[in-house]
Amino acid sequence: MGIATLTLACAPKEPVKYLALSFDDGPNLTTESRMLDLLAKHKVPATFFVIGNNINEQTAENMKRAVKQGCEIGNHSLTHSMMSLMDEQQVKDEIEATSALIEKIVGERPKFFRPPYINVKPEMYDWIDLTFICGKGCQDWEAEVGKEARLEGILSSAEPGAIYLLHDFEGNEATVEALDEAIPLLKKQGYTFVTVGELFKKLNCTPDGHTLYNVVPVNTAQ
Ligand SMILES: [Zn+2]
Repeated sequence: MGIATLTLACAPKEPVKYLALSFDDGPNLTTESRMLDLLAKHKVPATFFVIGNNINEQTAENMKRAVKQGCEIGNHSLTHSMMSLMDEQQVKDEIEATSALIEKIVGERPKFFRPPYINVKPEMYDWIDLTFICGKGCQDWEAEVGKEARLEGILSSAEPGAIYLLHDFEGNEATVEALDEAIPLLKKQGYTFVTVGELFKKLNCTPDGHTLYNVVPVNTAQ
């Protein structure tokens, strides 16, 4: 029963060439604004994992704009610290403070969490009632990784169900430039961009509360 249920749970109903872009470390009014312009230009959505302490009256406008553009907001903690060093109450406070801020601004609580530095200890899966997302990257947090290397990393990481872990922190323009070329190329390969939440729905996959997802599994056995 368990295996049969799992198979059904991840059986896609539609063609499976979906990808999800996601961006960490906003909100901000510089690089994130340009990322939103780029997404609008290419008519694709994304998921923004925001840091609670970066949210203020001004930057909140970009969160609202993102949602208006069909994007989704995820939780990237309050202080962007190493959470494996925290106790249960500290972890829960980080998550709740950020989820409450997100809800206040966009009217909906986040469903997804990206741990800062992907720094996780097993108890955190029990303490945090959100789906943990890692993703595939191109080391775009390193200043020395230039636009061409990011473009190459993005293109070579493409696979059905993949989630991209990218950054829109202030000054990270090379990711905006790389995506401006990558998005049309990936569309040409037949990929459709969706939010992380839509990716699970499109692939008919129920998130597991104890998994750190890079790729939403695609069941091709059907
Ligand atoms: Zn981060």
